Amino acid sequence: MKRNPSFDLVAPRYLFQEVAHRVDLFMRENPNAQLIRLGIGDTTQALCPIISKALIDESKALSSPETYVGYGPEQGIEPLRKMIAQRFYPHLSADEVFISDGAKCDIARLQVLFGSDAKIAIQDPSYPAYGDSCRLMGKNPILVPCQKDLGFFFDLKDLEPCNVFFCCSPNNPTGTVFTYKQVQDLVAHAKKFGYIIVFDAAYSSYIQGNLPCSIYEVTGAEEVAIEIGSFSKMAGMSGVRLGWTVVPHKLLYSNQKQVHADWLRLIGTLFNGASILSQKAGIAALTDEGQQQIDSQIHAYLRNTHKLKNALLRAGFSVFGGDHAPYIWAQSERFSSSWQAFDYFLNHYRIITTPGIGFGPAGEGYVRISGFAQDANIIEACERLAHSQ
Ligand code: PLP
Repeated sequence: MKRNPSFDLVAPRYLFQEVAHRVDLFMRENPNAQLIRLGIGDTTQALCPIISKALIDESKALSSPETYVGYGPEQGIEPLRKMIAQRFYPHLSADEVFISDGAKCDIARLQVLFGSDAKIAIQDPSYPAYGDSCRLMGKNPILVPCQKDLGFFFDLKDLEPCNVFFCCSPNNPTGTVFTYKQVQDLVAHAKKFGYIIVFDAAYSSYIQGNLPCSIYEVTGAEEVAIEIGSFSKMAGMSGVRLGWTVVPHKLLYSNQKQVHADWLRLIGTLFNGASILSQKAGIAALTDEGQQQIDSQIHAYLRNTHKLKNALLRAGFSVFGGDHAPYIWAQSERFSSSWQAFDYFLNHYRIITTPGIGFGPAGEGYVRISGFAQDANIIEACERLAHSQ
């Protein structure tokens, strides 16, 4: 069979596979190097007690014939959908929430929903899955530049005609968070030009202060937006796998048909529902007690991110983000490219970062540094930044 030509549109390796490959080469030449991994944005703290208990309890329930369950509803169990709707979307119903096995999986499934003809716009820089899943559908995305002079936000005047616009707040990698005014302008623009916004709020639990945590906080957004949520960074469940997607009833195609009906049809075909273990863990995470336990983890990650940010500043780097997301976006005149900056951090500090170019052409020259590390590693990274030249 002929190879699917869409694979020619993506780099041979996904960004983090490429980083791992280069780190492997470095370790072969420097086998004794003690590396600190501040590259991939993955959580490092142990699961909160309430989540781990829910996993154990459900696992026991599955081992008994009286409480065993097999396939669940494709859309996810109702108690979890209700809790998500009540906690995050008071104006929407549980029927508009779809449980997933993680935000990334739904980002890819959304490409199938939109089909190969849809014009997809993405922020540049942004989470690589948006662009790569679009390319795997055989087309290049429209890149909407988010440059430093706009606070790493975009100018709606730069948005070419599109059918779907993937946005992320707080943004991975820059940490930029939308203001209410920016969300209002975006929603009004989408209404005027008839495109759907996919609003990725995977890091919304890191937002501090009075900023929108969901696009639906702005009136009328349910007529133009799908929102993606995740338990990965909110509750340290990246390995447990659980997320959700909100498709409001009021979101219509140009022919006035509901997008909701197609999404339900699609997940019934491509997905058999999230693991019951993960869903029970999600319910535990959304109780008041669960939220308290999660909150202390989030604040610990943010404290570590601030420590790193200060250490980078003292070491002479220009740094952005890190206030509403556990990511720092760093730059220096010393570097002409992101990979050069990546090599510099690896060679001088033995710190693994992620090259900004991996998030899109506008990321060139930057590296993303993650605060998702354990305390001891953050302390050691700050020491190295203070003392190595
Ligand atoms: N969205 C963004 C912006 C992310 O950065 C990530 C993971 O890093 C995801 C989605 C993926 O989340 P999940 O683990 O739920 O698939």
